[in-house]
Amino acid sequence: MSASADAARAPVLVVSAHAGDFVWRAGGAIALAAARGAPVTVLCLSFGERGESARAWREGKRLEEIKAIRRDEASRAADALGATIEFLDAGDYPLRESPELVDEIVRCYRRVEPDVVLTHALADPYNMDHPAAARMALQARVLAQAIGYDAPGEPLGAPPVFLFEPHQPEQCDFKPEVLLDITEVFDVKRRAMECLAAQQHMWDYYTELARRRGVQLQRNAGPNLGLPHGTMAEAYMRVYPQVTRILA
Ligand SMILES: [Zn+2]
Repeated sequence: MSASADAARAPVLVVSAHAGDFVWRAGGAIALAAARGAPVTVLCLSFGERGESARAWREGKRLEEIKAIRRDEASRAADALGATIEFLDAGDYPLRESPELVDEIVRCYRRVEPDVVLTHALADPYNMDHPAAARMALQARVLAQAIGYDAPGEPLGAPPVFLFEPHQPEQCDFKPEVLLDITEVFDVKRRAMECLAAQQHMWDYYTELARRRGVQLQRNAGPNLGLPHGTMAEAYMRVYPQVTRILA
């Protein structure tokens, strides 16, 4: 296989704090990777049962019932995107950082052997679970690289880490560094979003965001000719430097 074919099918790991996060913020990246034959694993640390399921609580549902609903929604969304999903049921609001949870994430890295990692941004004053998930994802990545770390599998390489766009990016020190063209899979992302009935208010918000990021993608890809286009995009930040032999 050529290097570019290898890159196209490189395994992807997405570490998501709650049941819906991977869909709103990385559904396009996941669908694109899956469409080109890359295995994509979503590691869902919690169901978002306490903090991101307001509608179900208002309807009078109980905790276990809400977890089951969110699990089912996230599973269907992952399926629509072409990803497999694993749940750790670590609890949310708060999502507690612990050596045990980090160890579970290390084991996932060693099992999946990702060449690309996606997770949350490292700051979010509106949602402490998101940076907690990001910190654990980064710590686990480093531990998984250590040959002496006691977990099954080979030491991890150095997969680049891309950070999701938070819900309120300006408050989270988020600046788009990577604009990913998701136009060809946007209908897949929208179908996946529509699996998340508990957060229906987000469907149009993330459709509009993709449209705005698509405008910015076009502006950064060429001259501003004022032509209409339907480009849809997702924005990411990088944690580690891009490694390349050719500046492009
Ligand atoms: Zn969340």
